[in-house]
Amino acid sequence: MDLPVERWAAYARRRWASLEPCLQRKLSLAVPLRDTFLLCVPLFQAAEEEFLHRLAARNCVGKDPRAALFYKEEGNKSFHKEEYTAALRLYSKAVSHNSPEMSLCYANRSAALFHLGHFEDCLEDIDRAEAQGYPNRLQPKILLRKTECLLLLGRLEEAAGVISKVESKIAMDQSLTSTTRQILLRKISQLKVKAHEKESSPESVPEALSKTQKDLEFWEENGKISSAFSSVSLNFNSCRGRHLVATKDILPGESLVKEEAFVSVLSPGKSLLLQDSAETTWDSRVTNGDLHCHRCLKRLLASVPCRGCSYAKYCSKKCAQLAWEHYHSTECPLGALLLTLGVFSHVALRTVLVAGFAEVSSLVKQFHGDDKELHKAEARGKSQDETRDSTADMEGLSEKAEPLIRDCEDDGQYRGSYQAVFNLLTHAEKHSPEHKFLCSLSIVAICKKLQEADLTILSQGSCESQSRLKAHVLTSAELSPELQILGEAMLRHMLQLHCNAQAVTSIRESESGASVVTESEQVRLATALFPVTSLLNHSCDPNTSVTFSGTVVTVRASQPIPRGQEIVHCYGPHRCRMGAAERRQRLLCQYFFECRCQACLDELGSNVTGTAATGDIFCCSSCHASMQGEDVLRCSSGACTLLVGRDYLLRQLWDLQLQVQTALGLLKDKQPNQAVELLMRCRLDAENFLSAEHMLVGKIEDHLAQGYATLGKWQEAARHLRCSIQIVEARHGPSSVETGHELFKLAQILFNGFAVSEALCTIQRAETVLSVHCGPQNAQVQELQEMRACLLELPRSLLHRVE
Ligand SMILES: [Zn+2]
Ligand SMILES: [Zn+2]
Ligand SMILES: [Zn+2]
Ligand SMILES: [Zn+2]
Repeated sequence: MDLPVERWAAYARRRWASLEPCLQRKLSLAVPLRDTFLLCVPLFQAAEEEFLHRLAARNCVGKDPRAALFYKEEGNKSFHKEEYTAALRLYSKAVSHNSPEMSLCYANRSAALFHLGHFEDCLEDIDRAEAQGYPNRLQPKILLRKTECLLLLGRLEEAAGVISKVESKIAMDQSLTSTTRQILLRKISQLKVKAHEKESSPESVPEALSKTQKDLEFWEENGKISSAFSSVSLNFNSCRGRHLVATKDILPGESLVKEEAFVSVLSPGKSLLLQDSAETTWDSRVTNGDLHCHRCLKRLLASVPCRGCSYAKYCSKKCAQLAWEHYHSTECPLGALLLTLGVFSHVALRTVLVAGFAEVSSLVKQFHGDDKELHKAEARGKSQDETRDSTADMEGLSEKAEPLIRDCEDDGQYRGSYQAVFNLLTHAEKHSPEHKFLCSLSIVAICKKLQEADLTILSQGSCESQSRLKAHVLTSAELSPELQILGEAMLRHMLQLHCNAQAVTSIRESESGASVVTESEQVRLATALFPVTSLLNHSCDPNTSVTFSGTVVTVRASQPIPRGQEIVHCYGPHRCRMGAAERRQRLLCQYFFECRCQACLDELGSNVTGTAATGDIFCCSSCHASMQGEDVLRCSSGACTLLVGRDYLLRQLWDLQLQVQTALGLLKDKQPNQAVELLMRCRLDAENFLSAEHMLVGKIEDHLAQGYATLGKWQEAARHLRCSIQIVEARHGPSSVETGHELFKLAQILFNGFAVSEALCTIQRAETVLSVHCGPQNAQVQELQEMRACLLELPRSLLHRVE
């Protein structure tokens, strides 16, 4: 979750309850956030600091040589079991902690990379091992690995150079036993033969990267909104607020917005938390931080650790350096505190760091200037203001007279700049006072820590302000004027995130690599602010799809959008996942609005009670008609009199879910036979009380397909997957991305089973659906194209043989 950890939240609630009623009232009424923030500053005292410090200390973010040793040993265990990916992750954890054995960790990681076929990365790690003082006696070993890499990469001259270096090392080294010497020499002669072979038959250089630059999408930038395509325009009216509208007829799959996040923070894994026990235990589970670059979110291979902490890992030296320059030098020592205060606090801090003090300060000052103007206008009698949007009033925004759409810059442009971020709605008046108090106290905690630290961030603004800061002696209850400005801005961002935070997600494929059919799941990678994408309103039945590539979001039309129609996306509660009542409840709680989208109006208008989406229906165990009712369900067929309590059915459903979970575990443990057996029993159980379209039935079918595919029984796998596809289609629609993912799996199964003509058909359908939602560059789309090319190259005899 993105909010502060529960123990800190509970502490803040108790603190709030203990406040004097008049102070509580003051805090509840304080509308300019500056007042809320300043009232909270003196409330953060030694006791609060102490409590937070103790909570934060449970996070393991520093460098610890014992951890390095532990992860190295664990890595070695995986390596010996030939689990190279797991070994790679563990060695990466090891190098993120400093230890005298750093060079060995890098060398071991280079071996794992070698086995995984990442030769360039292997070479880099060998260089790192050498730079860290790899022991002389082991030198021949990594030099031989280096030679092999160079040979495999076709860099023959360099390889020859390294070989002669090894030879002289061996000749010089008196400490080598004769057997070791023999082994090394034999290896060298093998490599020489390899090198010779390479030389006489030079392979063509691998078909490098020609693909990646292929079909770059046609990009016609919008003149008025940065990061948006020319097919959309920014409109405003009092009931929809700011929103985007199609300026022409748009086809499914067309890109509408492509935007780089203004700021994004990787969601940490839970396992950074140490156990409460006295015994220090290191967690070898893999988290987001082990898999993705701390800055650009790219998938990590051989990570580059931060020099100051063990939690920030980067895809490259360059990313590490850029992060350090822009924000991490300030964040690095605050890691444990930020983990305790949650991702929203972290995003709030990073937002002001990325924007820079000068920019933040100028907008905060401008805001208060406008605020005064507003109050003056009110004093004069609020003649002109009455027509204004009330929320904009609350925000006291600089609405200029003519363009009417707030946050457009003077030239009428809307840019994804800090100004746009700053002006996103905070809904400050709609949050509960307790929530605002928790946010304020958390931000004060960050400011106090920043005050203790050396504030190089402020120097971005002016040298003068920094020197002033140092000259001014502050008591512990005070914050410097600069930090008051930053604090106010951070509080603003923290409240904005409630409605404007965008979860950056990615499809993560399982790392086991054992299964022929991809097992993938959607995971939350990061929390980010996208000021342009934030302009999109919500609909429970959206006409767009959102995908991410690193920190870039792409919004595509998921269906034809006629000119003049509003462009909408789904904030989470989707028509296919829950009934209208639940959706509206959630939207009201989190986003403070009552949804009036077409799907909601239709559902509320019809007399269907709408408690359950169609795929969640229980059915009668004797006649299979649907069961209806609230606490006690009655069979809907007139002839049958069966009555069952809802609790009983829910328990049965729960039991079945557990069984399916167990089966999934068996699949992961490479026991497909047992998994299939258990899943078949689950399917029989399900038939007894769940409708044939129930999502759990779909899941069982999907897992059965996976089990059979692992066993190489392609026909059975395909049969079960078709059942799963039917259920997914009924719920999400035939052109939904969910159906696309299932079709992709079916394509893989048919491809593997050589059911050529059906495979080609399925590939076509999957490609059509997935490229609408995810674009032509999507990995799955590309894989489908490769499968097709491969099938079309098969000899014609084979094409006709199978069916
Ligand atoms: Zn990166
Ligand atoms: Zn760091
Ligand atoms: Zn709705
Ligand atoms: Zn019945």
